[in-house]
Amino acid sequence: MRAIVVGAGIAGLVAARQLGLAGWEVDVVERSQAPRPDGYMMDFFGPGYAAADTIGLLPRLLETAYRVDSADYIDSEGRTTARFGYEQFARIAGGKLLSLLRPDVELACVAALDDVPSGRVRLHYGATPVRIWADDGGPGVEFSTSRNGQQAKMTLEADLLVGADGIHSAVRAAIFGAEEQFLRPLGMRTAAYIVRDPDLGERFEGRFILTDTIDRQVGLYTLRDGRTAAFLVYRDSDGAAANGTRQRLQDTFAGIGPIGEGLLELCPEDPYDDVVAQVAMPQWHKGRAVLIGDACQAVSLLAGQGASLAVAGAALLADVLQPLPEGASSREIEAALDDYQQQWRPIVEETQAVGRRAASSFLPASRIQLLARRWTLRLSGLPGIDRILARQIVGRLVK
Ligand SMILES: Cc1cc2nc3c(=O)[nH]c(=O)nc-3n(C[C@H](O)[C@H](O)[C@H](O)COP(=O)(O)OP(=O)(O)OC[C@H]3O[C@@H](n4cnc5c(N)ncnc54)[C@H](O)[C@@H]3O)c2cc1C
Repeated sequence: MRAIVVGAGIAGLVAARQLGLAGWEVDVVERSQAPRPDGYMMDFFGPGYAAADTIGLLPRLLETAYRVDSADYIDSEGRTTARFGYEQFARIAGGKLLSLLRPDVELACVAALDDVPSGRVRLHYGATPVRIWADDGGPGVEFSTSRNGQQAKMTLEADLLVGADGIHSAVRAAIFGAEEQFLRPLGMRTAAYIVRDPDLGERFEGRFILTDTIDRQVGLYTLRDGRTAAFLVYRDSDGAAANGTRQRLQDTFAGIGPIGEGLLELCPEDPYDDVVAQVAMPQWHKGRAVLIGDACQAVSLLAGQGASLAVAGAALLADVLQPLPEGASSREIEAALDDYQQQWRPIVEETQAVGRRAASSFLPASRIQLLARRWTLRLSGLPGIDRILARQIVGRLVK
């Protein structure tokens, strides 16, 4: 059996590996020239942690994990106003919590392709789909490649097309319809980039630092090698700002305090900058095309589980496809895709609800909301509050 996976992010790479291990021939079509180096620090817990353990990815993730002691909210002078201990977070998550840099997870997933017999999974970097189809004759992708100045075109046909190309999925647009039908913006944008500033590293090592501010927030985490991962969240009610430019971000965050402004000074010209949104679709598969990861199930950074669900959903898809015999019919494939959707959708919907509920504590819109977050965190050691926080952060994990 053959599959084309569009997108070599976390979901696409896990699906490719698991299908490869199940004996499928897999082509992965990725428009970036190589694994993307840009990114942010992520909490990794919940279903993806369990799935990573089951499929044997966990040891590779553990190797790259960072130690985070606490998330500290700071005022404009850098003084801590509220703190959330990661020990408590880990306890809430059943002791299964990792802090991972997004590009490190992607590299771990690429390395994990070594577990698949050689040649069974082919990665096509620098490959942009120009035509995507999934008609009665079967799915296919025509793509152009541009590597080292050489342009080429290639067409692939397969038994299955997997759209793993993120929140602005081209597979979803080609097979299911325009993005506006499925994207649920949450009134914010987010930007992220990595800078080199050894002084920050010394000052904040082991702590996730966040400004305790209304409508905009700068976060930072210092990395092992003198670099710092910065991430910004800001209110943007129409969610439609033009592509991120340093100047626009610097204007938006002017006056946030010396630490935030210092990070903005180091912002590259065109950092990652996108709408904060969820994806909600009535159907995740059509014919022999199926979506995984953010393309169909984005929960947003407010839920803090997008990467985790990307791993678990992709592993589940491969699981339901594994029993299919060589030459399986369209009907058998579609039944398996339906099984994946039936099993997985309730978990995604519950996590999306967790994300929406977290909006006001994630980015307060008023002083009252900001004070409410501060007091919730200050009281977080108490048993009752602990349970409320747990439900807010991890949702389904809590009985
Ligand atoms: C600031 C921020 C913080 C976050 N924090 C957390 C967190 O703490 N915990 C957590 O679990 N999650 C977090 N997330 C969410 C998490 O990063 C995503 O949910 C996860 O990366 C989704 O993985 P994916 O593989 O589905 O999509 P993506 O990572 O978006 O990968 C999609 C891939 O497809 C490629 N692609 C796109 N279009 C095309 C095309 N047309 N043709 C070919 N290739 C294409 C892209 O280049 C990319 O490689 C955060 C997200 C953000 C933005």
